[in-house]
Amino acid sequence: VFVSFEGGDGAGKSTQVALLGHHLAALGREVVVTREPGGTPLGRELRQAVLHGEDLDPRTEALLYAADRAHHVASLVRPALARGAIVLTDRYLDSSVAYQGSGRGLGAAEVENLSLWATYDLLPHVTVLLDLDPAVGLARLTGDPDRLESAGDAFHRRTRRAFLDRAAADPGRWLVLDAVQPADVLAAAVRDRLAPLLG
Ligand code: C5P
Repeated sequence: VFVSFEGGDGAGKSTQVALLGHHLAALGREVVVTREPGGTPLGRELRQAVLHGEDLDPRTEALLYAADRAHHVASLVRPALARGAIVLTDRYLDSSVAYQGSGRGLGAAEVENLSLWATYDLLPHVTVLLDLDPAVGLARLTGDPDRLESAGDAFHRRTRRAFLDRAAADPGRWLVLDAVQPADVLAAAVRDRLAPLLG
């Protein structure tokens, strides 16, 4: 079972990924917790380059995220799924569609097709969207902002809209949660959604 968590910066994705991972591990399931960009050694180099390196043309940025994803899926996600593990990823292809497709204006269809090509069409069984007003999410962050976090209000509003539109178009895959709720309430909603899939 492959589950992705999506949402804006500061929405609480990494907290929810960790809570679900601990819950499933306590049930005795093999869980692989990972992230994009940066789920592999090469991915960590790409993450550094794309978030903290030199300025990038939007297509260069999109290709680097796609390269990270291609390697992540081939070297880590597919092997884990093949041996029956549950894979939880903090961001996946929908982040690219929202950030590069809508935020950067490259077009949702083009960016989605790039990611599908990169992954031989691997989509999550369930995608959890932690939806939050970007101003609230960004205010929760601490430390130096990376390039994307400082991209501006309109950029972050476009990415939020893109996540919500994608979720509305494919309700069978998506679980949309209002991320202002407490972490334990969100975690319970995620567990309920996944229970039928996990047996
Ligand atoms: O959630 P995380 O901290 O891993 O995201 C790192 C940064 O990369 C965030 O600022 C996020 O907005 C950005 N990002 C992006 N496009 C992606 C994935 C992440 O702009 N496809």
